[in-house]
Amino acid sequence: MTQYVFVTGGVVSSLGKGIVVASIGRMLKSRGATIAVMKLDPYLNVDPGTMSPYQHGEVYVTGDGSETDLDLGHYERFIDVELTAVSNVTAGQIYSDVISRERNGRYLGGTIQTVPHVTNLIKERIHQLADETGADVAVIEVGGTVGDIEGLPFLEAIRQMHNDVGRDNAIYVHLTLLPYLGSTGELKTKPTQHSVQALRGIGIQPDAIICRSDFEVDLGLREKISLYCDVPTEAVIGLETLDTVYAVPLSLEEAGFGDFLADRLGITKSPDLSQWADMVEKLRDPKRTVRVAIVGKYVELPDSYLSVIEALRHSALAQDCEVKIDWIKAEDIEELGADSVLDRASGVIVPGGFGERGIEGMVSAARYARERAIPYLGLCLGMQVMVIEFARSVLGLEDANSAEFDPGSKNHVIAYMPGQRELGTTGGTMRLGLYPCALVPGTIAAGAYGSELVNERHRHRYELNNDYRDRLNGAGLLTSGTAPDGSLVEISEVEGHPFMVGSQFHPEFASRPDRPHPLFREFMGAAVDTLREGAQHSLPMDESGGDDTASSPEIVERSGIST
Ligand code: GLN
Repeated sequence: MTQYVFVTGGVVSSLGKGIVVASIGRMLKSRGATIAVMKLDPYLNVDPGTMSPYQHGEVYVTGDGSETDLDLGHYERFIDVELTAVSNVTAGQIYSDVISRERNGRYLGGTIQTVPHVTNLIKERIHQLADETGADVAVIEVGGTVGDIEGLPFLEAIRQMHNDVGRDNAIYVHLTLLPYLGSTGELKTKPTQHSVQALRGIGIQPDAIICRSDFEVDLGLREKISLYCDVPTEAVIGLETLDTVYAVPLSLEEAGFGDFLADRLGITKSPDLSQWADMVEKLRDPKRTVRVAIVGKYVELPDSYLSVIEALRHSALAQDCEVKIDWIKAEDIEELGADSVLDRASGVIVPGGFGERGIEGMVSAARYARERAIPYLGLCLGMQVMVIEFARSVLGLEDANSAEFDPGSKNHVIAYMPGQRELGTTGGTMRLGLYPCALVPGTIAAGAYGSELVNERHRHRYELNNDYRDRLNGAGLLTSGTAPDGSLVEISEVEGHPFMVGSQFHPEFASRPDRPHPLFREFMGAAVDTLREGAQHSLPMDESGGDDTASSPEIVERSGIST
């Protein structure tokens, strides 16, 4: 029977609850338990697919094509599990299900109420997760902060689970913040006390409290929280802000939280986090720095590109490098020119995106990378931009464009291809999730993968227009991967370039700390070579710190990654 660990958040949002949940998963997995994981999102959107990256950060796409919360990315990377739609539940899904059941007469004339109808459906989804995965432990994150109105049905549902599955089979972990008061030089516990009071008011007594803090949480503080919150001192865990999120499982383990959980869940096997610890040690001791430019639309908010950042880190790690990211707003290139903003980068990434804004800047970035032989990796939109640039510059098709950005162009080298579903309203019209891709032998991409057939995750509407495929191929934009029947181009690359590869899919979602995605791995290898050869691209470690923008991933990480 599946046991449950429920994780709630208090005091403020953005404490890194997703990282804590992912870490719990990793810690329990390292003790031999099989893990299921779920995010309960109290917002009313059915999924984050239609939400602006400014509102929600990255949309993480799972293998089955679900558009999910970016925390699922943390879960997949930390626990190394393949998740599906069952792992992301939103209030929007629950309410629309309740209402459609009511319309279909399933409630037999009853009055439909939050308790029990909404809460029952939430519990149904939690049980579905356990049934489908058969996992030993399901770690369930409740999004938002205790005290949010929309979170109440979710908290009520997990409260009821205590009784439903037996008190020994449901553990409640509450994550809070200990703010630091500079004037008195102390960490304050009162907000944590209030948050726990609010939680108890709902009927949930936490079994453990994890206290995020920028300073050491000493025994005295833990005893105080223990006294006021009725939690044993050993279950009050300090979680200091760390230099890398990948150190969180190690820190929690060291604080005794792994043993506490194992004891409560009756897991006797001792943990083996040695490989994970080696990985973190390597992360902390890079031999060199590689600077990569990400040219995108939402660069003010790096959370929009979270999986890209992580995939870069994984691939840099494999090269004993640390990656520094230059965040380049595509529109700035339109204004300032590619030379002035890309001159430090040893590699250029154009990530995914929608809409026309910034496209010309991305095209200039692709031209710069192609002409200067700078490694380039195009992720979905980044591949389309690469094709547009090549068609304009090499085929001489000046108005080459995507049907998405310039419907009036006579040369839609990127278009809506027959065989895809017809375009309708936004939401539900994209090619989503895993599709097979057959690699063309002898190409850089095929060499990177070292296999003939791969499955990759998609999230897009448009494709390379087959009417132009032969001309592009003939001029040196090779097709390096296609749908197995050859009908759609999945990967393109520039012949003779050290590494200029674009994929119609999103390889970033499949990267893991110990298994960088092959395309990222090869891209980073080429960037390191560029760094070796071109002095203008190499930055010694000591010069490379301190000059990043405020939105550098390091700073995002220090702030704990959004919930
Ligand atoms: N906007 C492009 C399309 O819909 C690319 C999407 C993406 O980068 N995910 O095809």
